[in-house]
Amino acid sequence: MEKFSDLKYKRPNYQSQNEKLLQLQKIMLQSRSYEELRNAWIEMKDSMYRFDFNKVFAYVKYLCGIDMEIYSSEVEILNIEIPKLEALQNECNQILLDSSFLSDFEKEFGTQIVKVMRSQQILSKGEAKELQAGENQLYNKYIHLLALHGRIPEMNDQYYGILDRLIKVRTEIASRLGYSSYIDMAYRKNLRFDYGENDISVFRKQINKLFTPVCNEINRSNAIQDVNTLFESETELMHAIQEMFSDISTESGNYINDIIEGGYYDLAHRPDKCSDYFGCSMLAHIKMPFMMGNYSNRSYDAIMFIHELGHGYAFYTAAREQKLYDYHRSTSSINEIHSKTMEHFAYPYLKRFVGNHKNHSIRYHLYRTMDNLPYRCAIDEFEHAIYKDIDISRKKRCELWADIVRRYMPWVVINPDDIKDGTYWPNQSHLFTHPFYYIEYDVAQMSVFEFYAHSKHNYQKSWNDYNRLCQNGGSKGYRELLMESNLANPFLEDNVTKICKPVLEEFYSL
Ligand SMILES: [Zn+2]
Repeated sequence: MEKFSDLKYKRPNYQSQNEKLLQLQKIMLQSRSYEELRNAWIEMKDSMYRFDFNKVFAYVKYLCGIDMEIYSSEVEILNIEIPKLEALQNECNQILLDSSFLSDFEKEFGTQIVKVMRSQQILSKGEAKELQAGENQLYNKYIHLLALHGRIPEMNDQYYGILDRLIKVRTEIASRLGYSSYIDMAYRKNLRFDYGENDISVFRKQINKLFTPVCNEINRSNAIQDVNTLFESETELMHAIQEMFSDISTESGNYINDIIEGGYYDLAHRPDKCSDYFGCSMLAHIKMPFMMGNYSNRSYDAIMFIHELGHGYAFYTAAREQKLYDYHRSTSSINEIHSKTMEHFAYPYLKRFVGNHKNHSIRYHLYRTMDNLPYRCAIDEFEHAIYKDIDISRKKRCELWADIVRRYMPWVVINPDDIKDGTYWPNQSHLFTHPFYYIEYDVAQMSVFEFYAHSKHNYQKSWNDYNRLCQNGGSKGYRELLMESNLANPFLEDNVTKICKPVLEEFYSL
């Protein structure tokens, strides 16, 4: 395995890549056998992975504050060149979808990839090209403003203007592409084939009923504090993490050894490095993840790094199990199960991290996982409301948000003047960048709590179920993936209560 520090960025020859894809497209069109069609398609995909690798690799280095000039010089070129190649990729996908060999393809790779490609084809239809470019411009304007301010200072006219136009342009895109609303389109875009608006609405109600009273009580009493770890340095922390992963299973042991020996993580503090950032990036083609964080001796930060290592483990595992890169990851409602469950698999090892403060550390962690549940539902309900009626006034939108906050987070104090001034607003970047995405964390959390309950009963068996979920990657639909890992459907009435009751009981017992 190559070390991360030995990987070099090499600018691709876009011209010859373009020609290569055109050539493959021709082969696909003229293919007389399934093998011919399949091999050309795979070759096309393979060159696309390499671009993906380049893009992610440059970005990782940028975040780490290493070779930052590569990123700044390359990213502009990538932004121009990649859409052209993606257009060619879409054309190849269309040839495959229209081909009489499609059933052979489904036999080999399953139906999930076909479903995903069909959705992507609709979303990339030419009818909305100009509007989509407009949406991108607004998006970039927002990112630019954000970089200037750090985070949204308050809902001023500038930010509001961007959001208002985003809501309108997205709705128009949806209508051009033949969707009944942007909500409908967003569900497709987020690849929700197994659940719809009604399921999400029932789910929000259950979370509200179960968690709002608990969070209300916690937020009105003394705040629960985090504890420090026993580690003096990042090396000590990594050592404990290595011991833990090696003890859990052979697979996770091999994984952590590869990560550490290859240097596929970065916990150091450096002047140019992006601080306050935890993340995991997937390096396609070399099949290695790269995890980033900043070393601190807070117990919660150590767990956050384990979260990223969970994402990395899932990618590493699926990449070795699944032939298609598209299957190396799933949708976020599954990907967040991978990462968040790893946090809980760490519980039996926490003594090594925090000594006698183990229970305290668990209590703090459970509190953090529960505290955000009603908030995320609130954001989701707000998003549904603002896209349902796109022409309502700024003040009316603030009133809507205030009403939602009162129901989901009654402990929050609302200043009526902020509503009158049109500045009462959730400070949440997803509204601008990833609409209708935020709720997925809550949906995933249900399966995480379930895995946790199973692990207390039989750690090894629940690890095996978890490992299967990782191996399956994105090769199957949401429900099927849950079923194969013995997880319940969180959208069925009462399942939320059934799953969460034991966690709440544990929280109060600590
Ligand atoms: Zn995550």
